[in-house]
Amino acid sequence: METMEPILKIDNLKTSFMTSNGEVQAVRGVSFSVNKGEILGIVGESGSGKSVTSMSILRLLADTAKIKEGTISFGGENLIEVSKKRMRQIRGEKISMIFQDPMSSLNPLIPVGKQVEEMIREHHPDRSREDAKKEVLELFEKVRIPEPEKRYKCFPHEFSGGMRQRVMIAMALANKPELLIADEPTTALDVTIQDQILKQLRELEKEYGTSIIFITHDLGVVAELCDRVIVMYGGLIMEEASIFDIFEHPGHPYTMGLLASIPDVEQDKSVRLMPIPGSPPDMTNPPKGCPFAPRCPYARKVCAQELPEFVQVGEAHKTRCFLQYPDAPADEHNPFRKQ
Ligand code: SF4
Repeated sequence: METMEPILKIDNLKTSFMTSNGEVQAVRGVSFSVNKGEILGIVGESGSGKSVTSMSILRLLADTAKIKEGTISFGGENLIEVSKKRMRQIRGEKISMIFQDPMSSLNPLIPVGKQVEEMIREHHPDRSREDAKKEVLELFEKVRIPEPEKRYKCFPHEFSGGMRQRVMIAMALANKPELLIADEPTTALDVTIQDQILKQLRELEKEYGTSIIFITHDLGVVAELCDRVIVMYGGLIMEEASIFDIFEHPGHPYTMGLLASIPDVEQDKSVRLMPIPGSPPDMTNPPKGCPFAPRCPYARKVCAQELPEFVQVGEAHKTRCFLQYPDAPADEHNPFRKQ
């Protein structure tokens, strides 16, 4: 069996925001790794800690945020400890990011081609303008921007949302990064364009061998793209599994709730999907027990009192739920241990 080689390893990451209402404990001890050439999905509702985790990796957090504990190992360096200058080199050259709203990352006053060219020259000052432009045109072709030479001179407002996202992907890949972090890059796009972009990310991952962290609230998108998935809730990882296991044997009630809210293409469109009732916990005062307890249909007394451990339930499959403990009762209220 092929051995997996992690290119990124996060251990016990804790990130908080200091607000006038107190400390928001957005990420409360997260550990995971990303293997070479792998697409890892991070799934969760807003406020689960998924985006704060990715912003911590790139050290792109707001001034009010603080990484309080943990290590982020990448290429032999702990990204939490490297200097700001070194971090700037790593961003865009070794790790790059695409966001949901490309407009927020593109300069409205500079032609798109020029912006990608600048990205290349910033990290490779020895490259001539002509060579950098040639690379931009090749990249545009790769991400299927039609008529690259003509489009090179266009401004962001002259592009559609899908086309702008393609420019962002071109920019993110400009320096052939080892890791690409995509935070909800297709959420604002219609389904057809979303499909095209996902397909393209898959092709680019294959061609360049780039590892990808794909952040989304949508398990349906994860099914199309990812190899493995992490499900986050209340600043913690609730489940980690292969795509097969997450869809065939979900090991956490929260994951089961997310699965129930995926639209089925064959489903009668008049049937409303079942969102998970309730709202996420207040992270200024996180619950001492399982954060999902107030919304969990299987919660027991112990769930509100203690935090379950993250336990192995299969090969490369871990979950954080008391009902998965080896000594958990097998009864009709336990979806994982039916009698
Ligand atoms: Fe539900 Fe308890 Fe499991 Fe949390 S630990 S998911 S509350 S059953």
